[in-house]
Amino acid sequence: MLPTIVILGRPNVGKSSLFNRLVGRKIAIVDDTPGVTRDRKEAEARIAGRDVRLLDTAGLEEAAPETIQGRMRASSEAALREADLALFVMDARTGLTPADRAFATWLRRQSVPVILVANKTEGRFGGQAAFEAYELGLGDPVAISAEHGDGMGELHDAIREHLPAEAEEPEDPDRPLRLAIIGRPNAGKSTLLNALLGQERMITGPEPGLTRDSVAVEWRDETGALVRLVDTAGLRKKARIEQALEKMSAAASIAALKECEVAILVVDALLGMEEQELRLARLAEREGRAVVIALNKWDAVEDRAATRRRIEDVLTASLAQMRGITVVPLSAQTGRGVEKLMPAVRETYAHWNRRIPTGELNRWFEAMLTRHPPPLSEGRRIKLRYATMPKARPPTVVVFGTRAEQLPEDYRRYLVNGFRESFAMPGVPIRLQLRGTT
Ligand code: GDP
Ligand code: GDP
Repeated sequence: MLPTIVILGRPNVGKSSLFNRLVGRKIAIVDDTPGVTRDRKEAEARIAGRDVRLLDTAGLEEAAPETIQGRMRASSEAALREADLALFVMDARTGLTPADRAFATWLRRQSVPVILVANKTEGRFGGQAAFEAYELGLGDPVAISAEHGDGMGELHDAIREHLPAEAEEPEDPDRPLRLAIIGRPNAGKSTLLNALLGQERMITGPEPGLTRDSVAVEWRDETGALVRLVDTAGLRKKARIEQALEKMSAAASIAALKECEVAILVVDALLGMEEQELRLARLAEREGRAVVIALNKWDAVEDRAATRRRIEDVLTASLAQMRGITVVPLSAQTGRGVEKLMPAVRETYAHWNRRIPTGELNRWFEAMLTRHPPPLSEGRRIKLRYATMPKARPPTVVVFGTRAEQLPEDYRRYLVNGFRESFAMPGVPIRLQLRGTT
C-alpha cells in the first residue's frame, strides 16, 4: 500500500493545479469557474523520492453556496479516512476567508497530519498572506505557486518529513542482517562467535570489512537468513596482545557498532553489568543500534536467580533508555542456550525496522495526551497536534505542535517510553523529534 496524500481546500484555491504539479502530468482539469463538477482525481506520483498515491478533492465541494462548507466537510471526511497526510491549500491572493477558517478549525480536530500550503504566492504575493496563514493554527505554511512551480522543493521536504516510514525492500535473503558482538575483554566474545559459527554454515570466510581493522564473516542462520558479522580487532587475539586491553575493546566496539544494525552485548555473568557494559549499551543507543544481551558463562553461575535479579536491577536503574531489553542467559563454552540468541536478535531487528501506520500512531498519541496532557511552558500551553513516523531503523517519531520544541525532558521520556511499551520494542532506541511553531 502506497502512502496516501489528500489535497483539501475550498474551491478555486488551486488544488487541481497543485495536483497536476505534483503528479507532473496534466490530469486534472483546471478551470476558472468555482465548483466545476469533476470526479475525484487520483494518481500515483513520485514525491520526495517516494511513490505515493495522491487524491484531489477538487470538485467534490460542488454544491449550492449556502451548503458549501458542509459539502466540503463531508467529501473531505471521506477522503481523509484514507489519507496518511493532508495538504490544506489556501489562496494567498484572496487571503483567508470564513470558509478557510471554518475548514481549518474542523481539520485541526482530525488526527491526520496536515501541511498548510499557501498557493499563488508568486511575485509580490509572497510574505503577506503566508503571514496571515499562521492564524489557522496549522503550523508553518509552505508558500508555493502551483502554476509557476515556486516553492515545490520546500513542499517536497515538508511532505518527506510527514510521510510514514518507508517499507523495507521485500525480504531479500541476500541482504544480510549486520551484527556486532561487543563487550569487555574476556567476556567470551570469541568463544561466542565460534559457538554461533559452529552451529551455522559459514558462507564467506573472514574477509576485509569496511574499516581497516575489521573483518567480516557471513553465514546463514537456521532460518536461512544471511547474517554478516563485523569483527573488529576486539575479537582477534593477536591485536589484543598488542594493545592496551581496555582501550582496545572500547575502540573496537565503537567501530563495530557503527557498522552493525543489531549488537550483541556479551556480559560476563560472573561479573554482572558494570560501568563498562553500561557505557557500551549507551553507546549503542546513541548510535541508534538495537541491542540484545548475551549473559555468558551461565554454566559457571551458582545462584542463577540472584544473578538474574541483579542484572535486571542494574538495567532498570541505569539503562532506562533500553527498558525491557532481551537478556539471553547462555554458555558460549558449552553451547547451552546459544540457540536462543539468534531468534532474539532477529526479533529485536524486526522491531528496529518496524513502521507504525500514521492512523495507529495517532490513536496511541491521542491516548497518551489524554492520560497526561503536556505541561505548561513559561505559563503557556504546549499544544501537541499529531505524530508521524517518517523513518525506522531506528524508529523515529516526529511530534508536531505549538511550542512542541519547548516540551520538557520528562514529558519527552513519557512519550518515548510509552511508545516503546505500547508497540513492544524492547532494546530498540527510539528517536523523538519535535517540530513546533511559536
Ligand atoms: P481548485 O478548484 O482548488 O482545484 O483550483 P484550480 O487548480 O482549478 O485553480 C483555480 C484557479 O486558480 C485557476 O484559474 C488556476 O489557473 C489558478 N491558479 C492555480 N494555481 C495558481 C498559482 O500558483 N498562481 C496563480 N496566480 N493562479 C493559480
Ligand atoms: P573475549 O575476550 O571476549 O573474546 O573472550 P574469550 O572468548 O577469549 O573468552 C575469555 C575467557 O572466558 C576464556 O578463558 C574462555 O574460555 C572463557 N569463557 C568463554 N565463554 C565461557 C562460558 O560460557 N563459560 C565459562 N565458564 N567460561 C567461558
